[in-house]
This record gives sequence, structure tokens and C-alpha cells, in this order.
Amino acid sequence: MEIIEKLLKDHQIRRTEIRIAILKLFLEKKYALSQPEIEEIIDKKFDRVTIYRTLNSFENQGLVHKVLDTSGVSKYALCHADCGSHKHSDKHIHFSCQVCKNTYCLENIPIPNIELPEDYEFKSMSFLAEGICKHCKTKNL
Ligand SMILES: [Zn+2]
Ligand SMILES: [Zn+2]
Ligand SMILES: [Zn+2]
Repeated sequence: MEIIEKLLKDHQIRRTEIRIAILKLFLEKKYALSQPEIEEIIDKKFDRVTIYRTLNSFENQGLVHKVLDTSGVSKYALCHADCGSHKHSDKHIHFSCQVCKNTYCLENIPIPNIELPEDYEFKSMSFLAEGICKHCKTKNL
């Protein structure tokens, strides 16, 4: 897939079978995936350590960002912003569906700006909305 080649190239990541397989999953699923979910659906020839390392390096390289869902499980989602090495700029809201339990990036809904007291240093913030996603909503009509 061309888009995968481009993602790897843009982030200066060498192409390997596992990296391509994981990126393919993210592009197909369109929602955030946890490591156990990836282990469940990916080709069994890839072991969990390799999957863990790949996700870790993707996060460091600005290819995926961490998403915390309501159960406190860390999931990963593909970055669409201009994220780079150790610098993420995904400042959007995440949406957790109570029906399918999937978590989606709402790229177009920015996190509201907050003013911290002067002596606090901002590092990161997550914003999680809960409800019923568009896929589940249309299914129930
Ligand atoms: Zn990012
Ligand atoms: Zn849903
Ligand atoms: Zn996101």
C-alpha cells in the first residue's frame, strides 16, 4: 500500500514486515487499538515483544499517539497531525463508544485551551467523550 510506504518514509522509519502489518491494521480499523487487540488480529508469526517494540518506536517517531479509554487501557491511534520524533501535536478529542467499546479520534474537534496557574508546567492533556459512535447509531436505526 502506497500510503504505508509514505508514512514510513516521512518518519524515516525503515520498512519491515511487522511495521507494515501494524500500520495496515490501523488504516483498516479506523479506531484506536490496544496491544492485546493487535495481538489478537495480527498474523501469529509476530510475537508480543516485537509488537510492543514496534508500537513503542511508532509512538516515539510520531506515527501513533496513545489514547486512554474509559477502562484505563492504553490504546494507540494513527497520527494525522504533523507529529514528529518525540513531538506530538494531536490535540483533538477522543470518543469512546459505549456500544462497540471502540475509541475514535475526532480529529476536527480540538481540545479546549486551558490556562494553568503560572507555577504549573503543562505537559499533556487528554479529553475523552463518551456515547454512541456513528457506526452503532446507524445500526440501531
Ligand atoms: Zn501524534
Ligand atoms: Zn460504536
Ligand atoms: Zn487521536
